[in-house]
Amino acid sequence: MTSDNTSLQVCTAPSDLSTLADQLRAAGRSIALVPTMGALHDGHMQLVRAAKKVPNATVIVSIFVNPLQFGPTEDLDSYPRTLSADLDLLAAEGVDVAFAPTAHDMYPHGYRSTVTPGPLAAELEGATRPGHFAGALTVCAKLFGISRAHHAFFGEKDYQQLVLLKQMVEDLNLPITLHPVPIRREESGLALSSRNRYLSAEEHLLAQQLFASLRAGVSAADNGASPREVVGATLAYLAQYPQIDVDYVEVRDVGLQPLGGCADATVAARLLLAARIGATRLIDNMGLMLQPWDY
Ligand code: AMP
Repeated sequence: MTSDNTSLQVCTAPSDLSTLADQLRAAGRSIALVPTMGALHDGHMQLVRAAKKVPNATVIVSIFVNPLQFGPTEDLDSYPRTLSADLDLLAAEGVDVAFAPTAHDMYPHGYRSTVTPGPLAAELEGATRPGHFAGALTVCAKLFGISRAHHAFFGEKDYQQLVLLKQMVEDLNLPITLHPVPIRREESGLALSSRNRYLSAEEHLLAQQLFASLRAGVSAADNGASPREVVGATLAYLAQYPQIDVDYVEVRDVGLQPLGGCADATVAARLLLAARIGATRLIDNMGLMLQPWDY
């Protein structure tokens, strides 16, 4: 099926996408996959733009709200679904193929086999979202297989997911190269997210403070703060906004391993947070360099 007035091809059946991908590979094309859950925004489009830079690329964007990665009390049913607007955006961006399967297309047998992530999946996001990363890794493994992709593009917005995906690709020797893409933000600094559309105008203003709090933490690091002090500076900033219900603020190394009590050289690290604003749970993170520290 091809959508109106464009060269965007839309596939829903996994077998159709695999057949097409096999033909493309045989013709010497490089397949660049961008997995999404739809409700597309400019953050997703950054991934598409990065994918288009692969020489000889055919860009496939998947749109699938993956039930496996939602907990029983999460927003699976209310998650925004805007397929027709999404296809228009993809066509305008020059994407070659959209893959929009149903849950039945993806899990015709229910789930017999799933990916078990490493122990990092139980930390940070995983502490409050058990099973989330098993679901996310499972659907990505399926999408890699169905699309025959050589390359896949993921946002640093979901930094922990990216680290776990790298671990999966390495541990399972999957023949694919993952490409991280920096976080796309509004002018206010708020990271673009499909869930931002849940926010009221007032909540949207509060959400901007998440970015400001990360900046406060990074600026503390620039002034020589230890990881513990960086977390303290971030939390102190957020404490000005009691309506923001902080889930966690942590500094980890870039592979998301915990940092020790001291270091005698600079360390590249990541400051990560999750918070609830009203009924909406948001995540964000930022890279930083830590000066040598001793608690
Ligand atoms: P989602 O549709 O939310 O599952 O996201 C699909 C992909 O887009 C994931 O790799 C996300 O990390 C990425 N993404 C979402 N928001 C952003 C953003 N603001 N900047 C960069 N990448 C993003």
